[in-house]
Amino acid sequence: MYEHRVGANRLASLREDLVVTGEREQLDVIEPFSGDVLASIPAGTEADVDAAVERARAARTAWANRPVEERAAVLERYAERVLDDQAELLDMAQLETGKTRRDAFEEVLDVAQTATHYADAGPDLLTSERRRGALPGLTKTTVHRQPKGVVGIIAPWNYPVTLAVSDALPALLAGNAVVLKPAEETTHSALLARRLLVDAGLPPELFQVVSGTGERVGAGLVDRVDYVCFTGSTEAGRSVAERAGRALIDCSLELGGKNPLLVLDDADPETAANGAIRASFPNAGQLCISTERLYVHESVYEPFRDAFVAATEDLDLGSGFEFGADVGSLQSAAQLEKVERHVDDAVEKGADVLAGGRARPDIGPFFYEPTVLEGVTPEMTLYDEETFGPVVSLFPVHSVEEAIERANDSPYGLNASVWAGDRDRGERVAERIDCGTVNVNEGYAASWASVDAPMGGVDDSGIGRRHGDDGLLKYTEPQTVAVQRGVRIDSGPLPDAVWARLMTGAVKLLSQVPERFR
Ligand code: NAD
Repeated sequence: MYEHRVGANRLASLREDLVVTGEREQLDVIEPFSGDVLASIPAGTEADVDAAVERARAARTAWANRPVEERAAVLERYAERVLDDQAELLDMAQLETGKTRRDAFEEVLDVAQTATHYADAGPDLLTSERRRGALPGLTKTTVHRQPKGVVGIIAPWNYPVTLAVSDALPALLAGNAVVLKPAEETTHSALLARRLLVDAGLPPELFQVVSGTGERVGAGLVDRVDYVCFTGSTEAGRSVAERAGRALIDCSLELGGKNPLLVLDDADPETAANGAIRASFPNAGQLCISTERLYVHESVYEPFRDAFVAATEDLDLGSGFEFGADVGSLQSAAQLEKVERHVDDAVEKGADVLAGGRARPDIGPFFYEPTVLEGVTPEMTLYDEETFGPVVSLFPVHSVEEAIERANDSPYGLNASVWAGDRDRGERVAERIDCGTVNVNEGYAASWASVDAPMGGVDDSGIGRRHGDDGLLKYTEPQTVAVQRGVRIDSGPLPDAVWARLMTGAVKLLSQVPERFR
């Protein structure tokens, strides 16, 4: 049996990278597999945030002045480093979250893919671009992509490696410095991911980390940076957006979801059921883009339900530091309490439990069985509230139209999944779903791993995008520099009335010239 190799000394050495400017209260970090205290982290203060931002700001100009290819080379080396040193990253992510090795591996893969993508695509996207000038031939207009300055990143605990660094990579590539506030529960995973980036050649001052609570360090960070990238709950996201609004800085908010999965009448029920398992229970359902509502056409409902329930019951729960288990632990007592509360409320109000429905303290203190419910109605809390656990509800629908309507009947709009026999038909249905990403014949991985394409939510699921061109360019200010030669763009020596007549004629004439000749 594989045992993790992260000792107390290693954890302490990683904490040395935190910005702490004085004696601080300590916050316990719990190891979810056992419920024991793993370590403690300092509860940072505004003074720590001040120091971190100051250090980051001092380092950023020299970094921004380095050729973009040099910055991209750091990302390239990082991708290799993360893959080579994955064992410790997997250990650390499992230790702090209780997830399975496979779920932890998805994080490593994501970081490596994101780093490689931006190392390849970034330099072109950041190249200054000539645009059509005010007076063709006489105005030379160029758009430069200037870095924002210091980017604040606030991350949740569910994907502690990915969400700590994958958004930092494009920010750094664009010439910014970064200050990260990781989740209290998973600070060491973030510190390890950052340490590897420094090993890959990033000047350490450019990436500062402050540990502590969201209310103090997170909020303090928003007040001091030039851009904030927040991932977490909708409630905290609103508060970040309000603060960012007051500071007049831009932000991206990647928030919660209550993601629908649709099974159309021409889908193979067995294939769709197996796909729905991967869509519903990754990371024990603690994934913002995993499924919680399944709308299944009545013509395939029964065979789908039978296959889905059987496959759910077959899932192996486990707490080992090796590959094998299908479903890991919930991250905390609070997560377990929320999942139990949602399921108990649904059952009390008449829902049927088709699979699961109970905690498994025999495996670990926060384990909960993958759970399938039927007969869920609007009075039940989990009907429209995000559970963020291994609990899904099945709903038979009479038509594809009804499935689309019910999928869209949600305050959220993050991710959706459509299962169809005819892929083209599936694609047409996908386009009608009000979510930032929709996967056809996949749960979430196809759109998430398409790192060249934007990813994010609409409505209560957030603002802005990660991945794709937007995921890099959001960390830049477009700056337009226009150089005028020959005539000036004003009336000059002409009387204003003559100038106005001339300009009217010129604009009319210009509008007749085809776009490509202007
Ligand atoms: P959370 O909002 O409680 O915390 C997220 C981070 O924000 C933590 O670092 C926390 O300390 C900090 N924070 C909390 N309140 C803050 C405030 N007022 N100001 C600034 N920072 C604050 O969320 P969580 O419980 O850690 O994560 C679970 C939630 O995150 C779920 O709703 C899930 O759907 C969402 N999530 C979304 C995505 C996405 O990409 N859309 C990805 C992962 C998780």
